[in-house]
Amino acid sequence: MTFKTVLLFGAPGSGKGTQGKILGTIPGFFHFACGDAFRNLRIDDPLGRVFIDYSSRGQLVPDDSTIELWRKNITASTSNGSFHPERDILVLDGIPRNPTQAEMLKSMLDVRAVFHLTCSDMNKMVERLQRRALRENRLDDANLEVIHKRLRTYEQETKPVLDYYGPNLVHNVDSTQSPMNVLRMILNLIASLKP
Ligand code: ADP
Repeated sequence: MTFKTVLLFGAPGSGKGTQGKILGTIPGFFHFACGDAFRNLRIDDPLGRVFIDYSSRGQLVPDDSTIELWRKNITASTSNGSFHPERDILVLDGIPRNPTQAEMLKSMLDVRAVFHLTCSDMNKMVERLQRRALRENRLDDANLEVIHKRLRTYEQETKPVLDYYGPNLVHNVDSTQSPMNVLRMILNLIASLKP
């Protein structure tokens, strides 16, 4: 079976996580944030070390490990009853993060929409990330050099995913608006999707 899916897409600091968390609280939605799944790994899990190694340098974790982590989490959430694939919309945040991952997930996802949270103000994103560093104890946000590397990785490796799905699925949403207005736009778009 395939999962009815919408993707939250955007640069680090664009507010994907904020929107994903809210959507995940609405009945009928299940939110999976790939970065959170990595951060939730136990310290003695070998993949946890791989994650720290790559994320602390602003790089993507290798694709095979990432897709495997996704698969395990989705399977576990289905078995424990938090995700009901037959009726829930899967909200993916932070995955697929390059066209190879999109291709690896292709047979499992029925992607209905890609919400591209745009932010033309680079300084604003960097500022958001730096504020988050302390609040959420994110080491990869604490260092300005790593932040810039993450933004470059996004431009070079992640943005091509938008072309992979194409203009019919991609909806640009201005993320410099208030979280409430971003949410309103996303919900209106979801409400207009075909069943
Ligand atoms: P942000 O989008 O704010 O940079 P995330 O929490 O989504 O933060 O991701 C943090 C880090 O986790 C990334 O920089 C990357 O190293 C790793 N990561 C998350 N998702 C993926 C993915 N799909 N593929 C590879 N690496 C990932």
